[in-house]
Parts: sequence; C-alpha cells; structure tokens
Amino acid sequence: MLTWLWKRLSNGRAEATVSGRTLRRFSEREIERLLRAGVLVEQRNADSWSLCAHCDCGLDARPIRKVGDELRACCPNDVAADEVLEPDDLRRFGIDADKLISAIAASGGFPAAATVVADGLWLLGKLPTGICVFLCRDTQVLMAPATILATRMAAASAPITVISIDVDPTTELHLRAAGLEARSFAECVLVDDRGTEQLALDRLSPIAVTAPRLVLSRSRQSAMFDGRRLDLTPQMFALLRLFAEQAGQRDPVLRKETIDAQTGRPANEIVRDLRKALVGCGLSRASADALIVTVRGYGYRLGIAPAEVVVED
Ligand SMILES: [Zn+2]
Repeated sequence: MLTWLWKRLSNGRAEATVSGRTLRRFSEREIERLLRAGVLVEQRNADSWSLCAHCDCGLDARPIRKVGDELRACCPNDVAADEVLEPDDLRRFGIDADKLISAIAASGGFPAAATVVADGLWLLGKLPTGICVFLCRDTQVLMAPATILATRMAAASAPITVISIDVDPTTELHLRAAGLEARSFAECVLVDDRGTEQLALDRLSPIAVTAPRLVLSRSRQSAMFDGRRLDLTPQMFALLRLFAEQAGQRDPVLRKETIDAQTGRPANEIVRDLRKALVGCGLSRASADALIVTVRGYGYRLGIAPAEVVVED
C-alpha cells in the first residue's frame, strides 16, 4: 500500500485524495494502520458519485440514494446504469505526504524523520553497508546538476542509492554516470506475510559505479575494450558498432540475417573475421570468443552487460 500511495502522490500532487472505493484492493487492517499513523486522513464522506460513462444527463455528478438495502449512485436517464455502492466506497481520505515518507522510512528501519535535500528529494538514512538511501518523487528532479551536487553533499562521499517509482534505463545510466544508483520502488519493497509493504534494502549492494568496458565513438570511429585501443578496419568497426548498438536493445542478439543484410557478407564469415581482428588487437582467442558470443541458430551478441557498453556520438 505504501507503493500505491507514493505513486499516487508522485503522479499528481493536487490529487492527494483517494476514495474508499479505490482502497478496496487493500485490507481493512492496512487502511486502519495507515489511518492511525496519520498517513491517511479521513475526510468528509462523498455525497455524490462520478457520472456514468458517456452519460448525457447534464448533471455534474450522480446523486447517491438509498434504494431498499442498497446504496446506489443513480443515473437519472438509465436505471440500468446505476452503480451499487458499498458504504466504505463513500469514504474519502487525504494522503499526508510527510507522514507517508516517515512511514516508508520507518518500514526500512530508518529514523522516521527524513531530511529534505531538495524539492522532491529526501535522505532516508544510511544502511549498515554504508550506502546513503534517498527517496525521490520523480527522477526528473535529479536531472538538475545542482540537485546531484546537493545529494552528494548530503551523502558525504558515501555510495548513493536513490529510490523512485519508475526508473527508465536512460535515466538510470545518466545517474550512474553521475555516481548515483537509481532503483525503482518495486525493486526495494517486499510484502510481508500480513500484506504490509516494507522497504527491504539488504538487497542493495554498494556496487561501485560500473565502468564501461567497451567504448565506441561513432564520429572518431574508435573503439576501446578494457582500456585497450582496438585498431579495426572500417568494416570491422561497423560490425562491432552494430553489436554495441544492439546490446542496448531488449533483444541483444544480432540476427544472422541482419548481419548479412547490413554488411553484405555471410554472418559466420564476417564474425570470424571480427574475432580474428580482435585477436590482432591483442585480445586472447578466449576473450575474443567471449566478447562476441555465438547464439546457435540465431545469431551473435556481445558477451558483456549493456551497462558496460557505451556508444558515443
Ligand atoms: Zn448516466
């Protein structure tokens, strides 16, 4: 429920009110717990309900009436469009952002009082492993160099992990280059057997920023692998570049047909030449084979992680 509320708060700051209907998905116990913690703040019950879809009744909202034993949101045009409501559906709750952050911090064993580092960015605390953990509303706030600097200063040279609802791969790489690990909420939250979400941060390891192993420059037509300059012919460079570009795709395998089409040579031949060229650049036979991996019947791919590959303009 912490994740859901945080997402709600991150997406639309104005819409920090939730209805009892939308909270149906959570257990009574969870809702009670968060009410007591002040994360949810009960508000006046709803006295009207949203219109039915595509209704031309002209009302702003449907009135709620008691019909027999049932509560109904009544459509003036069409009784069949009435919505039967549960009493709890009418409840309305505000979300207290500070209390929510405290609850998230406390669930991870941090002091409940998080420190505001910048607008939308909080320092939760330091793990026993030495990692400083931050919570941010949106990774966009971290795109500002001043914010990154403030984060670094708050962490005082400790490794930094930032938790956010969504972390797209581009942002993740950008932040990693700036020395920050970004993690999505989903990666950091565990649900205990009572259905309560908790930050589970023991899975975060203080990984050093991954140094790129393969760096290609399109404009300079140059390639480096593990600090070694690869002196390749234009044809071999072009093929290596295809591999490097494919590495960032969802399917990192470069299909045989693609290689044939892009290079005008049979894939097995030109890949053999590339491995040979890599050996010519000083790689051992084994590391050349490990760098260009054969995927049987399908094609070839780079044998290193996408984060270890950089293609510069
Ligand atoms: Zn209607």
